[in-house]
Amino acid sequence: MSSSAPPVATLEAIARYEPVIGLEVHVQLATATKIFCGCPTSFGAPPNTNVCPVCLGLPGALPVLSREAVELAIKGALALDCRINPQSRFARKNYFYPDLPKGYQISQYDEPLGEHGYVDIVVDGAARRIGVTRVHMEDDAGKSIHDGFRDSDRYSYVDLNRSGTPLIEIVSDPDMRTSDEAYAYLTELKQVLQFVEVSTCDMEKGHLRCDANVSVRIKGAEKFGTKVEVKNLNSFRFLKLALDYEIARQVAVIESGGKVEQETRLYNPDLGETAGMRSKEHAHDYRYFPEPDLVPLRIGENWLAEVRAGMPELPARKRTRFIGEYGLREYDAEVLTATRAVSEYYETVAKASGDPKTAANWVMGDLMGLLKAEGKEIAESPVSPENLGELVKLIAKGELSGKLAKEVFPKMFSTGERAGVIVEREGLRQISDTGALEKIIADVIAGNPKQVEQYRGGKTTVINFLVGQAMRATRGQANVALVTDLFKQKLG
Ligand code: ADP
Ligand code: ZN
Ligand code: MG
Repeated sequence: MSSSAPPVATLEAIARYEPVIGLEVHVQLATATKIFCGCPTSFGAPPNTNVCPVCLGLPGALPVLSREAVELAIKGALALDCRINPQSRFARKNYFYPDLPKGYQISQYDEPLGEHGYVDIVVDGAARRIGVTRVHMEDDAGKSIHDGFRDSDRYSYVDLNRSGTPLIEIVSDPDMRTSDEAYAYLTELKQVLQFVEVSTCDMEKGHLRCDANVSVRIKGAEKFGTKVEVKNLNSFRFLKLALDYEIARQVAVIESGGKVEQETRLYNPDLGETAGMRSKEHAHDYRYFPEPDLVPLRIGENWLAEVRAGMPELPARKRTRFIGEYGLREYDAEVLTATRAVSEYYETVAKASGDPKTAANWVMGDLMGLLKAEGKEIAESPVSPENLGELVKLIAKGELSGKLAKEVFPKMFSTGERAGVIVEREGLRQISDTGALEKIIADVIAGNPKQVEQYRGGKTTVINFLVGQAMRATRGQANVALVTDLFKQKLG
């Protein structure tokens, strides 16, 4: 244990160093069953009910690799642009822990499923490519639960429901240089994996877990410093806070003439500090060896092509396409590809409306606003994308004013009715018929001689008043642009 006083490093000192960060991320694959047996992966079942001899690690039970798990792992690796190895191999990673009944984890070691991928991030306007060293498959352990407050009633329990749940581990290259880059990498990683439906990446359920490796070196130095592994980072915020703390601590150690020790440290969110857990001398020797109960995993060209064909368009690609095809701004394209559901909703609205830019504004503004107010996901939207598309189309064709559309939309949202139905029933159709409008305009001109005189005398802003009168006379249904033009014509 190397618990010492909190680090004190001046900002000037920190500024002389460059952090180097690499992340190891565990992601639970969204399969219905476990990786080596048919037990369900459902969350929240009573303890030790989703188990069988295989995932209980009983002697003699044999693992059978799930095809679904392999296909999701391939999809995950492909989404990160990894090369899929035609042959990979499972290996035993041996260690003892009460929630690991087999006494080893089945993982992949020197022959992983995928390698040489990357994740592109943008931080403060600067684009960076973060390398993905490897993606490998493994099974999860069970869960230990510690309960009780006094010595006399303090118990530890083991729930093996999670034992044998399929995971992929994604190891990054040591390519990140700030905690913000690490945050951006994890955000992008999560988004991509959710997009291809490889994992829900629900951090609260432990479907996404992250360990951070960090070292510091004097700026300009070539050699990496000694790295520390930080565990227990169960939110994006904690990842950033823990890295910032750890960077400052390492700088303080070096500045005071000490040496950073290679060790594993735990982040304590209550204290906002990391504390030593095990040093290098106590590092595990896992005694990896090839798993004798499983044949090597061979992924042939045909299988790979089949899985590839089942992949959706990836978010980065979709962003570029939305910008090119629909003329969206970069930021809007970003928002509208944040999740697969949002991107698909938007695209349906864009196509149904024939006005993709206005469609973008409605999805990002009015729709997302109401969804947020009601705590709903886009999949639960009472307004279907086809219906929102119809509303935008009515505006684009000049049949509904933008102003009245703002009143129609909340009604669509609360009733689920189509835009056209509400517009007809409430008589909201925009009046764009010149003949009808000319009569109204003539009335307004006749009824407001003073303003007409002011306008003709050069005070052209008075036109707003006159247009307002015409709008009032039509209960907001007149086509504003047309009315304005007609007034200008009539008044010379
Ligand atoms: P280990 O053998 O200790 O597991 P690896 O070389 O497998 O180390 O790397 C584990 C993780 O640590 C990777 O994400 C890698 O990018 C990162 N890493 C490696 N060396 C450093 C370093 N000097 N500083 C920061 N991160 C590092
Ligand atoms: Zn089982
Ligand atoms: Mg390693």
